[in-house]
Amino acid sequence: MKAVIGLEVHVQLETESKLFCGCSTDSEGAEPNGNTCPICLGFPGAKPKVNRRAVEHAVKIARALECDVRPRFYFSRKSYFYPDMPKNFQITQYEMPLALGGRLLLDGRSIGITRVHMEEDPARLVHVGGGISSSLYTLIDHNRSGVPLVEIVTDPDLASSREARMFLEKLGLILEHLGVYDPGREGGLRVDANVSLEGGQRVEVKNITGFRAVEDALNYEIIRQESMANMGIAVERETRHYDAETNTTSTLRRKEQEEDYGYITEPDLVRIDVDDAWISRLESEMPELPDARIQRYVDEHGVPLFQAGIIVNTGLDLSRFFEECVGLFPEPGMVANWIVTFLLKSLNYEGIGLRESKVRPGTFVELLGLIGEGTITERLARELIKEYVGTGESPRSLVERRGLASAGREELGEAIDEVLSDNRKAVADYRAGQTRALDFLLGQVLRRIRARGDPVEVKRLIRDALDSE
Ligand code: ADP
Ligand code: MG
Ligand code: ZN
Repeated sequence: MKAVIGLEVHVQLETESKLFCGCSTDSEGAEPNGNTCPICLGFPGAKPKVNRRAVEHAVKIARALECDVRPRFYFSRKSYFYPDMPKNFQITQYEMPLALGGRLLLDGRSIGITRVHMEEDPARLVHVGGGISSSLYTLIDHNRSGVPLVEIVTDPDLASSREARMFLEKLGLILEHLGVYDPGREGGLRVDANVSLEGGQRVEVKNITGFRAVEDALNYEIIRQESMANMGIAVERETRHYDAETNTTSTLRRKEQEEDYGYITEPDLVRIDVDDAWISRLESEMPELPDARIQRYVDEHGVPLFQAGIIVNTGLDLSRFFEECVGLFPEPGMVANWIVTFLLKSLNYEGIGLRESKVRPGTFVELLGLIGEGTITERLARELIKEYVGTGESPRSLVERRGLASAGREELGEAIDEVLSDNRKAVADYRAGQTRALDFLLGQVLRRIRARGDPVEVKRLIRDALDSE
């Protein structure tokens, strides 16, 4: 059965202070409930003010997703009762959000963006001694209360769990490029995934963290809905919770209708008028986005499209690494090839990302330089890169310390002379037309120089020596 999927993605914006007050958003190492004030705790009478930087980040996201930024917008109160929000409403946007109607291109397919709006994050609930329904008790940490979020809502244009994951990966990369989001932040991107099967009711799976988890949750949900359909049971419209440990979803609540939230406009905040000059200035500050970056690697550096795609799509770290390497070693084709074919493989083998590794542009291009100048063969370099990625040791010092530099002309000439005079039978066989004899002689020479030479080159030199004997 055909799946219909739409996502609501909540992204924590990277700002110093919260959306409506001056409290710090940096809770790492902070006391629980330490970064709070009457505004973000929602005391009666506290007066919120909008964080300009958060709005600017949200506008950039909207423009990167080709949305129409509305000429004016305002905030609304979404009323609900839950312990993560003592004032019993969340300040969000509803009737007049920041931006509408954009798209994100996914392998040439256009995924519609319904809307982009800003809202405050509720408190973090810490379920102690179990999960959401099995814990002994729950702690509330308001350090997260009022942290700026942007919600990005897609049209129901995604057709599979795999596609949903690809969408999120691309969205994450765009946000990372914009500098508004930190992919390393835990829970920095949370997803509500809506899914229905062929005209059936849709189910919303709430609050999933991690792209992989979204794919898993959707797979589970699609199979659940399929088997219900097979048994002739109608799927009900509801909100479900995803448990990553058991990889299952379970009923959280029957879906509220939007009118249940009793939206009213937020009376403590002014309407915001957006002027075109401000939008233009923000647009001019926007950095190059991933698709443009891939194209630039192809056009400017002559990197094959699929390699450019791998470098850029792996993450901003790797793009920056590539560019720094090219600055130091201006052979982009070779740099890209070694990154994609060998560096990523070795990092993968070590089970680490570039960021945690000891790999640096300066030492990485040293390895390429050693090949370029003929000090080591490409084949040896493929071996050495594993050790380099593991230890971060300068490849040049590695080669020197272990005596791995290719044999010089003189050493090679001597080795060939010795092998030819020690193996007269093989020489005679070669002259009698047995090509295998040449391979035998090559093996002998390589053994004598301890494989520190390029076999093709060595073979050519042996043939030259035989011809001039
Ligand atoms: P709500 O505000 O009640 O969550 P919305 O209309 O804003 O409802 O839609 C929320 C999400 O549900 C959007 O991402 C949208 O793409 C998705 N959606 C809408 N209809 C369907 C459907 N039939 N199947 C799956 N997802 C859907
Ligand atoms: Mg919703
Ligand atoms: Zn505060």
